[in-house]
Amino acid sequence: SKKPIRVAITGAAGNIGYALLFRIASGQMFGPDQPVALNLIEIEPGMNALRGVAMELDDCAFPLLTEIVQTSDLNVGFKDVNWALLVGSVPRKQGMERADLLGINGKIFVGQGKAINDNAAADVRILVVGNPCNTNCLIAQKHAPKIPAERWFAMTRLDENRAKTQLAQKASVPVKDIANLCVWGNHSPTMFPDFYNAKISGKPALDVIGDETWLKDTFVPKVGKRGAEIIAARGASSAASAANAVVDTVVSLTTKTAPSEFHSVCVLSSGEYGVPEGIITSLPIKSDGEKWEVVKGVQLTDYAKEQIAKSNQELLDEREMALAAL
Ligand code: NDP
Repeated sequence: SKKPIRVAITGAAGNIGYALLFRIASGQMFGPDQPVALNLIEIEPGMNALRGVAMELDDCAFPLLTEIVQTSDLNVGFKDVNWALLVGSVPRKQGMERADLLGINGKIFVGQGKAINDNAAADVRILVVGNPCNTNCLIAQKHAPKIPAERWFAMTRLDENRAKTQLAQKASVPVKDIANLCVWGNHSPTMFPDFYNAKISGKPALDVIGDETWLKDTFVPKVGKRGAEIIAARGASSAASAANAVVDTVVSLTTKTAPSEFHSVCVLSSGEYGVPEGIITSLPIKSDGEKWEVVKGVQLTDYAKEQIAKSNQELLDEREMALAAL
């Protein structure tokens, strides 16, 4: 029988954690015949709630789930893990400046980077969800010298999925007919969902929609404000769709990408498409199931380049603020 894949999840008793763990344990992340072990990490005040979540996992009697570890000790939590899903982070409170938030979370991600470096399996891959996810990821990566830089990811897949559904609904086609929708830049309101390269039923989205003004002035802000729209309607922030995007991101990185398709993932830039080097930024990625690469040859319009440059400038500013606060 196959050796289990060991997955660490921080913030495991939080909202996204609650929507995520059951999907991993049921086989939706690594497939229906791959056993999994879960290392659930919480801060001390979350440990009681975590016990409840672990009981519910037990009560699902998932055939693929071989072990549950519950801990607030990072050295235990990241021991021998093949994947680390960093979901927990300190939320921005009223009156808190962005620099404060970057500093507080920066320190947390220094500790997590070191603990992953010292304890994880040799093949560990890391996906950061906790916000500000791009900069948190960069800070952790800088404190994990043993781990190759290409193993670090931050999440923009929920933005991609949101954008795809908006295009599908506008064009009255099923969402599976939308392809090549890359979100570029920071996971923040400045991110740019590149509708110019998106395809609707194999045709350029711009030709099918026929309304560039709608794409620029309605579609892009709608995707950016979708999180707020959900909070207003549901009284709580999106969690199931965020967890779904975590599953999608890992599946996309661990399975072969369909020919001519790509997906949005934030990775450490080495200057592709004129993006500044040394930031964790969202790019079009394809995978052969093991290794990923940035897709080459995507043509960017001047408008797209401008928007992407603004978002990446924000990441340079975040990096500076976070490093100054460490
Ligand atoms: P959630 O599980 O709802 O969110 C966790 C993180 O995901 C936040 O940073 C949040 O950012 C981000 N996120 C939320 N929605 C989305 C989305 N749609 N797309 C992308 N990212 C998203 O938060 P909870 O407060 O319910 O749970 C957090 C858990 O983390 C708690 O259990 C807490 O105990 C734990 N925690 C762990 C820490 C640590 O590891 N040291 C530190 C602090 C908390 P945003 O805030 O912008 O919504």
